Order: sequence, then C-alpha cells, then structure tokens
Amino acid sequence: MTATPGTLYIVSAPSGAGKTSLVKALVDAEPNISVSISHTTRGMRPGEVDGLNYHFVSREEFVHMLDHGDFLEHAEVFGNLYGTSQRWVLQALADGHDLILEIDWQGAQQVRHLMPQAKSIFILPPSQHALRHRLNNRGQDSDEIIDRRMREAVSEMSHYVEYDYLVINDDFATALDDLKAIFRANQLRQGSQQVRHGALLASLLA
Ligand code: GDP
Ligand code: ADP
Ligand code: 5GP
Repeated sequence: MTATPGTLYIVSAPSGAGKTSLVKALVDAEPNISVSISHTTRGMRPGEVDGLNYHFVSREEFVHMLDHGDFLEHAEVFGNLYGTSQRWVLQALADGHDLILEIDWQGAQQVRHLMPQAKSIFILPPSQHALRHRLNNRGQDSDEIIDRRMREAVSEMSHYVEYDYLVINDDFATALDDLKAIFRANQLRQGSQQVRHGALLASLLA
C-alpha cells in the first residue's frame, strides 16, 4: 500500500486541562498515531524521562538549535522555551504517519501558517476550579508555578476560537471518545480511503 502523507494534528490546552493524559490514552489505543517529542528548557518533573516526555536541554543548547533552524516552531511558555523538531515532523509525515504536536497557542499559530492543512484541537477543563484542582492533584509543580499557570490560563483559553475542534475534558472517558472521533473521521476522508482501499475501489468499478 502506498502511504499518503500523514495528517498533522495540533493539540493545545491550558496547563492542567488533561492534554498529556488524553493524548497518551489516545496513542496507546491507536498505534498508527504518534506524538512529537518537544525540546524544552523546563526542569524535569519527578517521573519524567529525557527523550520520552521531552528532550530536556539547556537554554544554550536550545538557542544553538534555534540558530541552526532546527525548529518547525518554538515559543516561550511560563518562562521556559519549547520547540518542535522540524526534521522529525517532516520525516514522520512523509512516512505516512499521523502525528500530534502538543504545543501552546503561539506554536499552533506558527504551524498553521506553515501547514494550513493541519487539524487543530483545543482541550478545555469543565471549570477554572477544576483546572486548579488538577494542577494541585498532579502534585508535580510548586505552588508558585501553579499560581503562574492559573494566572495565564484565561488568556490561553481565549485562543480556543482559533482551533478546528473543541473537546471539554470533564469526564475523561467521554473526552477520550470525542478525541478518537475526530481522528477516526479524518482517517475516513475520501482521499485517505482511496489509498487504503485502492484494490477494493478498483474491483468495485471493474
Ligand atoms: P503541561 O501542559 O501542564 O503538562 O506543561 P508542559 O510544561 O508540558 O507544557 C507547557 C506548555 O508548553 C504547554 O502549553 C505546551 O502545550 C507547550 N509546549 C510543549 N511543547 C511545546 C513545543 O514543542 N512547542 C510549543 N510551542 N509549545 C510547547
Ligand atoms: P496537561 O498536559 O494539559 O497539563 P495532564 O494530562 O498532566 O494535563 O492532566 C493534569 C492532571 O489532571 C493530571 O493529574 C491528570 O491525571 C488529571 N486529569 C486529566 N483529565 C482528568 C479528568 N477528566 N478528570 C479528572 N482529572 C483529570
Ligand atoms: P509543561 O511544562 O507543563 O509540560 O507544558 C507547558 C506548556 O508548554 C503546555 O501548554 C505545552 O503544550 C507547551 N508546550 C510543550 N511543548 C511545546 C512545544 O514544543 N512547542 C510549544 N509551542 N509549546 C509547547
């Protein structure tokens, strides 16, 4: 089967809305979708693994990569630098893989500009109260960092209008079903199905 270029998905959310958990559950259930591993200057959280959650780099290394044009997009979020490896994304798409970028709204704007065909999804919490509760419960950030993320949450959430799809992460299973539906519908687009079922279509029209 010839591979069509994969679909690029952008997933954004305010910190604590459940983006990472939802994307992980989606990818665990759908082996054909993978997630881009960003580079970041943020410190590692307990339990995070370098090269798995992020490529953790110093500010100097990040700027060096930036100067060499290594990033498809990059942004400063909560005082840390984050960037998506250009080479890796282009290779995965050329190989026909569907790929998710878990990036903030600033990065999403850059990617949409470069790749207008990308599909974007914004994940929202059911309330501001629930958002703070989840950030506290996650137990991985200091009170100071949680306060900063909460202060910036409203301005981040105001960018939801720029996205193709909205998912409210109230009940986790429902939100995961919604996310799966978005991916499934995209995989059923005629162009993709033509490639997937070329032999069937040829035999039906013979
Ligand atoms: P979390 O979202 O609360 O788990 O916090 P993170 O520290 O993992 O991410 C912080 C912010 O940086 C989020 O808004 C992410 O979407 C964003 N982010 C992560 N990786 C990238 C990236 O490669 N590029 C851009 N532009 N933003 C990123
Ligand atoms: P993000 O990547 O958007 O910052 P996470 O995926 O780390 O968010 O989720 C933040 C916290 O909220 C985690 O502790 C996660 O287990 C929890 N969480 C995620 N979705 C839900 C949900 N629907 N109901 C309750 N807690 C949730
Ligand atoms: P955290 O530090 O909590 O893992 O992520 C904080 C924010 O940074 C999240 O909103 C996340 O989406 C964003 N982020 C993570 N990686 C990237 C990236 O590569 N590019 C951009 N633009 N944002 C990112």
